[in-house]
Amino acid sequence: MLIDLVAFDADDTLWHNESLYTNGRQRFRALMQVHGFETPPEELLDEIEIQNIPYYGYGVNGFVFSLIETAIRVTDGTIPSGALLDLVQLSKDMLSAEVQLFDGVQETVARLSSQYPLMLITKGDLRHQQSKLQRSGLEEYFRFIEIVSSKDAGTYARILEDAGVSAERFVMIGNSLRSDILPVLELGGWAVHIPDPLTWSHEIVGLPDPAPERFFETAHITDLPSLLERLG
Ligand SMILES: [Mg+2]
Repeated sequence: MLIDLVAFDADDTLWHNESLYTNGRQRFRALMQVHGFETPPEELLDEIEIQNIPYYGYGVNGFVFSLIETAIRVTDGTIPSGALLDLVQLSKDMLSAEVQLFDGVQETVARLSSQYPLMLITKGDLRHQQSKLQRSGLEEYFRFIEIVSSKDAGTYARILEDAGVSAERFVMIGNSLRSDILPVLELGGWAVHIPDPLTWSHEIVGLPDPAPERFFETAHITDLPSLLERLG
């Protein structure tokens, strides 16, 4: 057996996530319009959100702080406090939104958990990620859970060292080339990309050409059992 550990990303790999942020931005635009303000351009929202990552990390809290900051800046501070309260409510709605698994996830993860030790590696707010995992019905299938603040090569190296697994015997599966794929390939691990059309622009990066030999791409999570079998 070639594979000692199979790890999954969570957001937009196992369950819908980016759609929550897309809806959040729509609610923000609608709210600005209701209060008679112009809607800020998407680029400005992206810019403020990315500038704030070093302060708040990834997740709903940083997202909504960024919306509040944007609203105050583009209205020169004239945004009514009631509108700001609506944004606070938006964050609570996002944090408690139902966890919706992608088709085939439950069966595939259950099946793979009987063949390999599974790990979940996700970045974001600790409490929110824990709550989503608990509500997903998938927790029992993962032997290891890592909730991290960012997913770079150093993070993966630390995780592999703690698990006592060498990179050549590790597979990471995820929707983000930037967070799930490139750092793992850099360490000499295997990576399976499952693209999601809604992936946030910040997570989209180019892949080296030609693609590294330990890189695979598949459209659907249900393809994983046979793909991993071929690796083994
Ligand atoms: Mg993801």
